[in-house]
Amino acid sequence: MATKSLKKQNSELANTERQLEILSNGIFGNNELPKFATKIKESNQFPLRPKKLEILQLNLGYMCNQVCEHCHVDAGPDRKEIMTKETMLQCLEVIKNTQATTLDLTGGAPEMNPNFRWFVEEACKAGIKEIIVRSNLTIIRANKKYYDLPEFFKKHNIHVVSSMPHWTRGKTDKQRGDGVFDKSIKALQDLNALGYGMPESSLKLDLVYNPSGAFLPGDQVSMEKDFKKALLEDFDIQFHNLFSITNLPISRFLDYLIASENYEDYMYQLVEAYNPAAVENVMCTNTISISWDGWLFDCDFNQMLGLKVASKVKHISNYNEEVLNDRDIMISQHCYGCTAGAGSSCQGSVA
Ligand code: SF4
Ligand code: SF4
Repeated sequence: MATKSLKKQNSELANTERQLEILSNGIFGNNELPKFATKIKESNQFPLRPKKLEILQLNLGYMCNQVCEHCHVDAGPDRKEIMTKETMLQCLEVIKNTQATTLDLTGGAPEMNPNFRWFVEEACKAGIKEIIVRSNLTIIRANKKYYDLPEFFKKHNIHVVSSMPHWTRGKTDKQRGDGVFDKSIKALQDLNALGYGMPESSLKLDLVYNPSGAFLPGDQVSMEKDFKKALLEDFDIQFHNLFSITNLPISRFLDYLIASENYEDYMYQLVEAYNPAAVENVMCTNTISISWDGWLFDCDFNQMLGLKVASKVKHISNYNEEVLNDRDIMISQHCYGCTAGAGSSCQGSVA
């Protein structure tokens, strides 16, 4: 398993233009498969347009204590891009006036941003209804300075959403690195001990599953049952919902697909599983994604491909929600990952 980001390895796939080129040429360039725009035109859903804004998703930086095989952010310990306090202050101004009700903090490991706790406290004061932290769990056990994160989360009523690719050590560690499973289990037990994830508890703890290879996720409802049964029986762990997410063909997952010669098969699977009903609720229709340096995107995936919003307003420094909501959403062939089968978003299935 790689221990460095694609960027650190000087991989050509660290270049977003190269990724977009791959996604537009080959089987899509020669019309073997229809482009995403063509497909959504068939069901009169082109251009894709935003609906009511509900979620502001902030990427606090690409630094992470893990280097997971599938990471669409290309995050890792060697990534130094971190949101500054100045950009956070601009975000807080937006949070005070937005119609969005949820602030979704992601990374990398968002907790590694040195101003993470200050920012969460300020965001609470700004009056946003819900704050989600996408925690990789192992960060809680990575260093003593993070051991009290569960208490911090509880104090601020944070909704914790955490990746957990499987309920077995082997499958989890293969995708996310040696030792990740045991640390994740310990972190989940710490969260449960504070009331997180317990039935009837208002301290929300959800898990995210994504496949470990070039295949689509199974049914979210039955997977949730299997996860709940196994984690309870083996480790006495409870959680609320399991979100099942499709891996999008970008960054390290694209690298994996190409290296394992699965790219074309995987794109065929995504296109064959295209579901027009899922297009209605793809997450770019209710979300704005803000990068560590304040640029605005339709979603976290577009952020990683460098596809800024198609609007006059492109940066948090001149944010204007009304202008921003009147835009067409930027799409490419990676979008098939959001519309396959039951669909996929940061909140799991959408159809
Ligand atoms: S998938 Fe999450 S935990 Fe893994 S390297 Fe990427 S940001 Fe870090
Ligand atoms: S990848 Fe982003 S822009 Fe494309 S459909 Fe999914 S959420 Fe929308």
